[in-house]
Amino acid sequence: MWRVRKLLSRVHETYLEVHVGLDDTDTDLEGCTTYLTFKILSKILNKIPKAFSPNYPLLIRLNPVIPFKTRGNAATSFIIKIPEKDLSNMKKLVIDEFYEYLRNIEGSGVEPGLVFLYGNIPNELSKLYRKALTDYVHKDYVTKIINKLNESIEIPLSYSRGLVGALAAIGASNTLTECTYEILVYRTRNNYSRERCVDEESIKAMDKAFQNQTFLNYDYENNKPLIIPSGRNPVLLGIRGEDPATLLKALKTLNLCEDFEGWLIYKTNQALNAHHVERSIEEFRPYQTGCIKGRVFENPSIRSGGDVLIKLESLENKHSLWVAFFSETGLGKLARYLMKGDVIRVCGGGKWWEDLGLVIHGDLLEVVELVNETLRNPSCPLCGHRMKSAGKGKGFKCPACGYRSLTLSKEKVKINRGVAIGTYRPVDSAVKHLIMPQSRVGRRSDCSKLLVSEWVYVREDGSIHS
Ligand SMILES: [Zn+2]
Repeated sequence: MWRVRKLLSRVHETYLEVHVGLDDTDTDLEGCTTYLTFKILSKILNKIPKAFSPNYPLLIRLNPVIPFKTRGNAATSFIIKIPEKDLSNMKKLVIDEFYEYLRNIEGSGVEPGLVFLYGNIPNELSKLYRKALTDYVHKDYVTKIINKLNESIEIPLSYSRGLVGALAAIGASNTLTECTYEILVYRTRNNYSRERCVDEESIKAMDKAFQNQTFLNYDYENNKPLIIPSGRNPVLLGIRGEDPATLLKALKTLNLCEDFEGWLIYKTNQALNAHHVERSIEEFRPYQTGCIKGRVFENPSIRSGGDVLIKLESLENKHSLWVAFFSETGLGKLARYLMKGDVIRVCGGGKWWEDLGLVIHGDLLEVVELVNETLRNPSCPLCGHRMKSAGKGKGFKCPACGYRSLTLSKEKVKINRGVAIGTYRPVDSAVKHLIMPQSRVGRRSDCSKLLVSEWVYVREDGSIHS
């Protein structure tokens, strides 16, 4: 009944649609943009009776190879619908909460971005999202967008680096074609410096029960829960998966042995390889992400520690670059078996190395073609020994019996390869936010899942705001 009245009352009032984008609120020590979003969103829904959110908030991971990214390179945005008369009230609430949060966190390196956008999402912001995910975004580029959209956007704090992510996170909301979801549970502040307390056996049991619709719950190889982050931040745990209702069910099976403040379900661009855009070897630049196909130029060099470096040459022209597969990703021990002449496709992010120039840090290796035969000197027709070259254009000479031949030629031999054609992904412990883990391959997850009744939950008063 209450819900019906609430819906009816919406009909008679003019509602505004406001997009709120946030970024760069974590310091070198603590903080988390998703936590601030949880605080702000739950406060709006609690304090403004007719306010409602038609969709899940977005947790957007941006380009992981940008040097001055935030710790988790995450930005967030959400949509709120409110009666026009409540707008100034809502804005004040957001800004107050923002300042209170900034007052309370320790450490430095914050350049917070906060943006309000009214009405539909302009194309410029969708484009900005794609760029902030896969490329370097220059300050002037963002300034231009802000000037162009000054009718529909508002920047209540100062201009800062965080605006890039805040605007990109708003732009993502009508750009994503595939989504995953994550439920994040937040700790109470007095627990921050303590070790997180979630019963490990219950995490394994949850993983077993929900493994087809969740991912990266537990690393059985290293006996380590993956749903629990490290460091001093407000996140107690995060379960990632394909469906919000399942995430909630999965959470409720866990045995949490510490108090928590509440939770929030996000829609995300995580675990989709969204940053893997196709590029050519010649156009790839440092700080870009993407995939390239090429031919292995010389046999890989293996560095101490097991990292593997490969020079990759374009199939069409003479352009080349370096690719690195680090041992902790598990890709190094496969890449070391590649040989000159193999064709591979590599995805990852470009960094600049002093000694090598542009190096793509690989987070996916696709072996497309393998050299499977090699040439060797013929064996001696008289005594069977392997012959040696007698010098350029002089044929072969047998080191055992001295037989010489100008007519014999090298023979083809099959090689046994230590790596097979196929696609290889990092081990679970090395999977970063944007990367698709092996367990997600083949799954589809759409962006239009409806709000479940407990998508945002604040424990303080035990009530659920939705
Ligand atoms: Zn011989």
